[in-house]
Amino acid sequence: MTILNRILNVPSSDPDDARRRRLLNILLIGVALISVLGLIALSLVALIQGADQTISMALRGAIFALLGTLGIFAINHTWSGQVASLLFVLLLTTVFTLSDEPRQVVDGRSVFLFTIPILMASVLLRSWASFLAAGLAGIVISLLALTIPGYIPPLPTIFGFFAFALVSWLSARSLESALEETRRINRELDQRVELRTRELRDANQQLAQANERLRELDRLKSRFISMVSHELRTPLSAIQGFSEMLLAGVYGPLAERQRTALGRITDNTQQLLHLVSDLLDRARIEAGQLTLHNAPFSPAGLVEDIRSTLDVLARSKGLMLTTEIAPDLPDELYGDEGRLRQIMVNLVNNAIKFTEVGDVRVRLYRPNHGAGTDEALWAISVSDTGPGIAEGDRTRIFDPFRRVDDSATREHLGVGLGLSIVKELTELMGGEIQLTSMLGEGSTFVVTLPLHDIEEVSA
Ligand code: ADP
Repeated sequence: MTILNRILNVPSSDPDDARRRRLLNILLIGVALISVLGLIALSLVALIQGADQTISMALRGAIFALLGTLGIFAINHTWSGQVASLLFVLLLTTVFTLSDEPRQVVDGRSVFLFTIPILMASVLLRSWASFLAAGLAGIVISLLALTIPGYIPPLPTIFGFFAFALVSWLSARSLESALEETRRINRELDQRVELRTRELRDANQQLAQANERLRELDRLKSRFISMVSHELRTPLSAIQGFSEMLLAGVYGPLAERQRTALGRITDNTQQLLHLVSDLLDRARIEAGQLTLHNAPFSPAGLVEDIRSTLDVLARSKGLMLTTEIAPDLPDELYGDEGRLRQIMVNLVNNAIKFTEVGDVRVRLYRPNHGAGTDEALWAISVSDTGPGIAEGDRTRIFDPFRRVDDSATREHLGVGLGLSIVKELTELMGGEIQLTSMLGEGSTFVVTLPLHDIEEVSA
């Protein structure tokens, strides 16, 4: 392929020149092949029949054509396409002039051959060169006619050559203008692509800079939150500790109103501590510093822990908190018990917080057990009979600081961090969280996690 390309193509800065030189090379190869075939055939005939005058003339003609094409090929490759094309047209005209008896060339079977150089001239040289070739053919047959006694230059034939030259000129011109138009469109497209690429590169650069600034701001924000949260936690823990000691009567007996006020102080401090610890978790998640401490644990113990912590809260709202562990769940699971407790406390707390009547159900089970799938899973589901969550909010509530904009939510304390932390923790554990909900009927959050084979993971 590359050798053929090297033979056919001649590098040139002008695309028209390159196209014409390539076309000339193709024609030259064609003529050379015909000449070689002619040479072989004529030699065979000469061998069989003996060489008469016609055959030796034809042999000479074939050799002349072959040498001519090789010479023109060399000129086309090394010097000038225009000169080579001109020589090619001259060569064709000469070969056709000498290829037959003068009579046949002037107004017989060979006269039509002159249309070939006329056509070639229009596509190999300029389009108007067809008229030059027609003129040349006219001169040649006029001169030939004068050498034949009783013949005069055949004007209708010469007129025919010019008519053919006109048609060749028209078609070559339309081809050239079509090509020029295509090139212009290509140039325009190139310019447009270049402009768009430049714009895209600039936009990308700006985007990268903006991204870097955002990342920097994010890092600053995380550092700020983590610092402030640490600073808040110490005094808050002290307030909590002292309030509890006061309530326990360590500093002497308290009047009822003092106890009530202190109760409020501990409740609010507790909430603030929760918030601060959520903020710290968020900062750790964003800094990629939240790590899990996995170990075997008892799911029954975990569920009991949740019950004892949140049952009082549920009862205080007149809600029933029920827990259930499916019998096929192993007695021991493997994971970060503290973080799993955090997930459950968050979900159950929300369920109690947003439900006014009914119950909150917690269930631990194996979602696909016996379904024939390879993946071993276990799940925590927390359902309530609360207000439900509208479809449009079901994915948004897992974003940090997102809360549903309704009166039920506004009534309750919270900043919208809990679910985002639950989701991040679940994903960190290799699981996923799903929410199904019906407005006015309730919501169910299901956290599905991989069930690790304890012997395998502890090995
Ligand atoms: P917070 O409870 O601090 O507002 P969360 O991230 O835990 O933040 O919850 C985000 C929002 O999702 C809540 O503000 C509430 O609007 C909605 N939501 C969460 N759990 C429930 C639930 N069980 N029933 C109804 N809405 C809920």
